[in-house]
Amino acid sequence: MSSLPYSYDAPESQALFDRAAAVTPGGVNSPVRAFRAVGGTPRFMVSGKGAWLTDADGREYVDLVCSWGPMILGHSHPEVIAAVQEAVSRGTSFGTPGEGEVALAEEIVGRVGPVEQVRLVSSGTEATMSAIRLARGFTRRSKVIKFAGCYHGHVDSLLAAAGSGVATFALPDTPGVTGAQAGDTIVLPYNDLEAVQEAFHRHPGEIACVITEASPGNMGVVPPRPGFNQGLKDACAKNGALYISDEVMTGFRTSRAGWFGVDGVVPDLMTFGKVMGGGFPAAAFGGRADVMAHLAPAGPVYQAGTLSGNPVATAAGLAQLRLLDDAAYDKIDAVSEQIQGLVTDALTKEGVAHRLQTASNMFSVFFTDRDVRDYEDAKKQDSFRFTAFFHSLLANGVYLPPSSFESWFVSTAHDERAVQKIADALPAAARAAA
Ligand code: PLP
Repeated sequence: MSSLPYSYDAPESQALFDRAAAVTPGGVNSPVRAFRAVGGTPRFMVSGKGAWLTDADGREYVDLVCSWGPMILGHSHPEVIAAVQEAVSRGTSFGTPGEGEVALAEEIVGRVGPVEQVRLVSSGTEATMSAIRLARGFTRRSKVIKFAGCYHGHVDSLLAAAGSGVATFALPDTPGVTGAQAGDTIVLPYNDLEAVQEAFHRHPGEIACVITEASPGNMGVVPPRPGFNQGLKDACAKNGALYISDEVMTGFRTSRAGWFGVDGVVPDLMTFGKVMGGGFPAAAFGGRADVMAHLAPAGPVYQAGTLSGNPVATAAGLAQLRLLDDAAYDKIDAVSEQIQGLVTDALTKEGVAHRLQTASNMFSVFFTDRDVRDYEDAKKQDSFRFTAFFHSLLANGVYLPPSSFESWFVSTAHDERAVQKIADALPAAARAAA
């Protein structure tokens, strides 16, 4: 059991965790779910409805994780569930082209101007991995620039100074990634255009692409400084490299057209996941038609997937995207601001030094007295305060991401009752963090 001062009774979850640990490394299928950063028993959830999750012990929580982003309409949205049921009733996978995947691709192309063509895959990791392969195949160059603290999935070559789970476990690199695989990756400090220009100067004609989170959420929320993304785009254009904007997290969340809809910088390639799958494994990469034309079978760069464009996943994603109109985003932005205000007020009242950073409706709290502009800043936060804050909220029915290097997410289903629950839980959490 946990050695933390916070011991919360979750016997059913603990029993499941023990069972899981016997058959699954660390008892989880994705590391951050194990609560290693905060300690204690990971809650095994059995159902979700709207803004609420119910765990194996029958306790309810307001969910500020939203499955790490996808559940932007809340859990079990009736229209998404109906679309899934309708799709399932016709079969679950055909391994042939189908209308659902065309409709989802049309929806993406219709929403995000720079995406002229798109290829569907099953995870964000596949999307970034494939986009980088395509950029290398298109430019016939090898090197990739990424930024410390940006996470692009568990692509071998990108697991260098990645944020999120890797930050949580303080692994700057991971065993299993060879020097050769990481050798073509240039890791630079986030928000530092000079470092980018210098890297292009040092490696003339060698850099295939720059990949960046459109607005990072994997070192906590650290938005790009004004002009940073445009500067990346310009540096790429000047040096014959492609600019890849990873919108797996921000896509269809931070606006109708994701972060592109916020800053208007036009990438060569973009990657998507999370929201576009409606809670199912669907992701995508897309962009300039002349670049996408290099992809098999039209071109020579190979990429494929047995379950790519799966009819159930595409039905869920399409139903979710079609419900995400301007009114939905207004609602999400408003409730996000409301919760941000409550968090700031509670922490300020207790005199807890913090920075609440936002990127549209995404936000997170850093326990520090300085603005966080890059991964080095993010690592300087007082994580022990987050741990205390997290456990107090958990005990009072509010479910935060179990790491201080993650964005918090809200949905259209976060109504007055959910907000009130958060408001009621915050004073004790702020005292715990003090
Ligand atoms: N890119 C970003 C920005 C992400 O946040 C993530 C996942 O959190 C990924 C890529 C990888 O996506 P997936 O977990 O679906 O492989």
